[in-house]
Amino acid sequence: MHTLENLLRKNSFSKNDIVRLLTLDSDTERALLQKAAYAAATDYLGTNIYYRGIIEFSNICTLNCYYCGIRRENSNLKRYCLSNDKIINCTSWATGCGYGSCVLQSGERRDKHFISFVEKCITDIKNATKSNLLPDGLGITLSVGEQSRETYQRFYNAGAHRYLLRIETTNPNLFSSLHPDEQSYTDRLKCLTFLREVGYQVGTGVMIGIPGQTVEDLADDILFFHDHDIDMIGMGPYLPHPEAIIDTTNAMSDKELLPLALSMIAVCRLVLKDVNIAATTALQAMVPDGREQGILHGANVVMPNLTPTDVRGSYQLYDGKPCINEGREECRTCLEHRIESVGRTIGWNLWGDSPHFAHRMNQRK
Ligand code: SAH
Repeated sequence: MHTLENLLRKNSFSKNDIVRLLTLDSDTERALLQKAAYAAATDYLGTNIYYRGIIEFSNICTLNCYYCGIRRENSNLKRYCLSNDKIINCTSWATGCGYGSCVLQSGERRDKHFISFVEKCITDIKNATKSNLLPDGLGITLSVGEQSRETYQRFYNAGAHRYLLRIETTNPNLFSSLHPDEQSYTDRLKCLTFLREVGYQVGTGVMIGIPGQTVEDLADDILFFHDHDIDMIGMGPYLPHPEAIIDTTNAMSDKELLPLALSMIAVCRLVLKDVNIAATTALQAMVPDGREQGILHGANVVMPNLTPTDVRGSYQLYDGKPCINEGREECRTCLEHRIESVGRTIGWNLWGDSPHFAHRMNQRK
């Protein structure tokens, strides 16, 4: 068996290697993993952390993912959709602050009105945010779920160039336990293929600590990201929501979940190397410095919340979402200090695209 030091230096990792790295149990060993992942992030991506200001523009959802606080059958919630003007106001503010990119995220709708609305928002954001500092306007990542290939193409043509669609888990049985029959693992996979064919930088990810999920499942998830040549990773702990319909009797304790979520980031960094990895808000929901810990474990993207405060409380995918009452200005200054505190700089006015995407495009030439 490899010593841990040798294992951390490997270039390619087997499932056994990954399981071993995810199950290190001493603090000393976990510290070695963390240091190796942070160093790998510096080597592959430099010291910059990139901002994606996230606008949760609508919580109206036609799906019923059992874990999600905004699923359609949760009637304990005021539904909203921000106007085009409000969205542009958020993105112009972000550009003024030097953010290079935004994420438009919402519940899932596939009706014509929604598709045209999103398409127009993308076009308008691009037009409103071009400047000397950002000649191609704000970089736009979409996270509006499963859509047809044609819809993905329309959004891409309008100017979105990255897309986040989490596979949630690559264990099809576990996937079925999280979703009603109308949602299938194969449809989800098909969407990831469409996104790639259209030309997006493709992001996916999983929830960590889903009841019934094993470390082997998580190792398979990482191998899936690798084998599907994924460009960006957004993943975080599974957190309960009072309106969720998931049996959490056997759920992991926070004490186990946080180190596992951080190890997932670290191992993804070592295995996937040059991809963008987000330190997600769900980490921060667990502990106030969750995102900084994510960065220390090799993440290089953060998603400051730009959603107007009056609707933030209605976009709670899980319980205990942080900063519900904090304005975007407070988020901005708070985050800047937090990032500097872990030895990173902020990539102001830069898109901060995934180098993995550039490499895969070069390989095609
Ligand atoms: N409707 C879109 C985007 C909103 S949900 C979509 O499904 O892609 C964005 C992500 O939030 C989901 O992919 C899921 O992984 C995460 N999420 C939802 N509920 C959660 C919970 N209870 N705990 C942790 N993450 C959750």
